[in-house]
Amino acid sequence: MGLKITALPQGYVRGVPGTGVTLQRNADRTFDLAMMMFAITGGDHVVMVDTGTSDPAFVREQHGYAKFERPAEHEPLRVLAAAGIDPADVGTIIYTHLHWDHCSNPELFPNARFIVQRDELAFAMDPVPIFRKAYQRTATAQPPILSVLGRVETITGRVEILPGITAVPLPGHTPGSQGVLVETDAGRFLLAGDCIDRYENWEGDATVDHLPSGSFINLIDFFDSFKTIESLDCEVIPGHDPRVLERRVFG
Ligand SMILES: [Zn+2]
Repeated sequence: MGLKITALPQGYVRGVPGTGVTLQRNADRTFDLAMMMFAITGGDHVVMVDTGTSDPAFVREQHGYAKFERPAEHEPLRVLAAAGIDPADVGTIIYTHLHWDHCSNPELFPNARFIVQRDELAFAMDPVPIFRKAYQRTATAQPPILSVLGRVETITGRVEILPGITAVPLPGHTPGSQGVLVETDAGRFLLAGDCIDRYENWEGDATVDHLPSGSFINLIDFFDSFKTIESLDCEVIPGHDPRVLERRVFG
C-alpha cells in the first residue's frame, strides 16, 4: 500500500483581510482560512504533519482571534478517532513551523518524536516582538513544543525523514519553515505549510507568479522558496485553504 495524506480539520478563521493572506493584494476582500493537521498513513507507522490548534476560548483570549471557531467535532482527539487514527500509533510528527495554529496539542501523542528545523526551534524561543504571540512566547502562554522538548529532534536542510517523506526547507514565512514532500501512488504532493496559505498564493496574479502571505519574516527567502517548490515537480497542498478539506484525501 502506498502513502496517503489525509487533511484533518482544526477550525476556521473567517473573514481574514485580503492583505493578510496575499501581500499587497486583495485589499477589498476577505478570505476564510481553514486550520488543519495532516496524517500520512501507509508507511511503517502513522506520521503527522503539524498537530493543530488549541481550544477556542484560549485562542480568543491569547491570540485575539475573535473570529476563530472550532466546532466540537474538530477537537483533535475526535478528528483523529473519526479518521481511524490512534494517537499512540503516531511515531513521527513533522512541524512545518512553530506558529501556535500548527503545533498545539503535542502532548496528545505519547510515542512520537517531533521533527523541526533547527532555525525554527531557535527562533520560537526568542522571536522578534511582533511574532511573540504567534509563537506563544508571552507572559501568559508558552510555546506548545516546550511540553515535549525531550522528544524533539532538530534537522538542518533537506532531509528524507522516512521512505517517501522528505522535509524541504521553505523559509520566508518564518526562518525555519519547511514543507513535507510525500511520494504517493497518485503522484508527488507537497504539504506546503504557510509558505502557501491558499491556492490564490500559488496561482499568483498578472504581475507575479506566486504571492507571499501578508505574514513573513524575509521576502527574499520567501521568493526563493517559491523557486524551490517549482523545482519539486509536485502538486501543492496549501496550509490554510478550505478547499483542501473538501478534497480531504491525497494519494
Ligand atoms: Zn504560520
